[in-house]
Amino acid sequence: MAKTQQTVATRREETNPFLMVQQQIDAICQKINICESCHIRLRECERELVVHFPVKMDNGHVNIFTGYRIQHNDSRGPAKGGIRYHPDVTLDDTRALAALMTLKAAVVNIPYGGAKGAVACDPKKLSRNELERLTRRYASEISLIIGPEKDIPAPDVGTNPQVMAWIMDTYSMNKGYSVLGVVTGKPLELGGSKGRFEATGRGCTICARLAGKHLGISLNGAKVAVQGFGNVGFTAAKLIASEGCRIIAVSDSRGGTYNPHGLNVEKVRRHKSETGSVIDFKGAENITNNELLGLECDILIPAALEHQIHEGNADSVKAKIIVEGANGPTTTEAAHILREKRIFIVPDILANAGGVVVSYFEWVQGLQSFFWSEDEVNNQLQRVMENAFNEVFEVSQREKVDMSEAAYMLAIKRIADTMETRGIWP
Ligand code: NAD
Repeated sequence: MAKTQQTVATRREETNPFLMVQQQIDAICQKINICESCHIRLRECERELVVHFPVKMDNGHVNIFTGYRIQHNDSRGPAKGGIRYHPDVTLDDTRALAALMTLKAAVVNIPYGGAKGAVACDPKKLSRNELERLTRRYASEISLIIGPEKDIPAPDVGTNPQVMAWIMDTYSMNKGYSVLGVVTGKPLELGGSKGRFEATGRGCTICARLAGKHLGISLNGAKVAVQGFGNVGFTAAKLIASEGCRIIAVSDSRGGTYNPHGLNVEKVRRHKSETGSVIDFKGAENITNNELLGLECDILIPAALEHQIHEGNADSVKAKIIVEGANGPTTTEAAHILREKRIFIVPDILANAGGVVVSYFEWVQGLQSFFWSEDEVNNQLQRVMENAFNEVFEVSQREKVDMSEAAYMLAIKRIADTMETRGIWP
């Protein structure tokens, strides 16, 4: 008996993340006088592929899964963006994430447009063989529109270097030769870049340091809370701790662990890999994710999923700096509240751009078959992130707006300039 996992899912208007991104684009385009044709093009995604595809499960049944690959805008270069495996992911989530990728690549000034892919599935409930079959079939389905010159996927929530390896292999088998540049975030032995795994957390750490410098808060001794303990959250916690910060709390989907005297991040990681969660860590107190967001601290790094800081809990946030490791962790209403509280927010399209920057380095290395040392990667990442932070900060001072608005202004102006110069074909 065949089973349909999910058909195309969309979101209600009030929780629709793509509508939120469109509203932000509208507001900025009006504020900085972006030409009408660029504005209306930026409001929409250029190309949207929805696929419903079969996967043979281990029990012999066939399930139908729904997947997406969305290209928001490729004016500045090939579209770039991760692939998410999550049971609740919708078409509108994927559109919003694709648009954020266009803006992110423009903020850090790398020659990419934005894309995102997703499959509505729970990877934790799939065996390794099922995950491989699902990935290879999804890769075949989207190979119509991906490729090293067109659209280059990477890992996101629920996917990892192994998934990228299967996509690279599937695409290469169909081409008849190995194509390193088709995905980034690959394992090192398959043309991955040194420093890629840690890049997003490293970028967050660089942003935290620069924000702290601006506010006169030294990282040495600063109290930090991190929501989410995956690629971004764990790495950010580890690297920021190595700069002298005290990590007072971390969390995952099951809850958080809190110790005002500081947690040993590596020991928490080991505890999570043994037990499946950071909760019940010895010598610390269990807290909820909501309690973590409201802790007395200098720096808060939301690095889990979207909309974690919302109208209902924004007022409880006490951090002086928020570094948005996750994509869209703060709703529009929450952002207003945080602004009133004069909390300095490093917005997602800047704070978590380290991943796409090193993905860009990986793509360049793959195309040239010439690989860099880890120091070279980290030094170049630092240069790009510092430039981007300083440019956004400069716009925020000049235009008297917060960092989030400044980042959107910088990005949209860059993309619109390119679109105007290229013109419209035919
Ligand atoms: P991941 O799957 O490795 O980790 C996600 C973490 O969040 C896990 O620890 C999970 O348990 C936790 N989590 C899930 N739901 C939660 C909830 N409701 N409350 C608290 N914790 C919860 O994913 P990741 O790659 O670290 O990505 C995290 C965020 O960063 C996402 O928004 C992603 O889009 C964004 N991001 C990731 C990268 C990257 O390079 N991995 C780059 C840019 C942005």
